[in-house]
Amino acid sequence: MEAIINQVKIATIQGDITRQTTDAIVNAANSSLMGGGGVDGAIHRAGGLAILEECKRIVSKRGRLPAGKAVITTGGNLQAKNVIHTVGPIWHGGGRNEAAVLESAYLECLKVATRHKLASISFPSISTGAYGYPLTEAAGIAIKTVTSFLKKQNTSIKDVVFVLFDSKTYESYCSALQEVTEEKSSI
Ligand code: ADP
Repeated sequence: MEAIINQVKIATIQGDITRQTTDAIVNAANSSLMGGGGVDGAIHRAGGLAILEECKRIVSKRGRLPAGKAVITTGGNLQAKNVIHTVGPIWHGGGRNEAAVLESAYLECLKVATRHKLASISFPSISTGAYGYPLTEAAGIAIKTVTSFLKKQNTSIKDVVFVLFDSKTYESYCSALQEVTEEKSSI
C-alpha cells in the first residue's frame, strides 16, 4: 500500500529489509549494538563485519545506545549505503513510557537520515518481535510519528518504506496507514 504525505511517498510492503535498496535501512538493535536475533541478526549477517566494527567504535566512544536514540553506520555489503541503528522499548505493560520511547526511536532515525541528506529510508516493525510491543499500538505509533514528522519538518527524505516480515504485521501497518490517509482526506 502507498500514500503520499507532503510530497513524500510512504509505502508498506511485506519482505526482508536486508534486501532493500533505500539509502538507509533501520535496524531494531539492542543497546549493546553487538547484534542479536531477529532483524538485528539478519542485518549483521547480510551486511558483514564492517557494520559490527563501526558499532563497536561507537559504543567504545559513547557507551551503550539508550532506548529511543539512533546512530548511523555503513551498510557494509548491503545494497543500502547506511544502517541506522535504533533501540526500541521493551514492553513492560505500557506504564514505563514505552509509547514515548517508541515514538522517539522513529523520530531519531528520521532526524539522522535528514542530517545525512538521505532521500530514502526503510523501517522494520521496531519492538514488536522479541521486545513484545503489542502490534496494533506499535503500528499506529510508527505510522503517526512518520507522517507527522513529514508534515512538519523540512527533510531530504522523499521515500519511506515499512518492510514488514510477516502478513499479520504487514496488515497492521496497512490499516494504520489507511487510517491516517482517511483522517487527512476528511479535513
Ligand atoms: P525487537 O527486539 O525490536 O522486537 P525483532 O527483530 O525481534 O526486534 O522484531 C522486530 C520485527 O522485525 C518483527 O516483526 C520481526 O518479524 C521482524 N523481522 C525479523 N527479521 C526481519 C527482516 N529480515 N526484515 C524485516 N523484518 C524482520
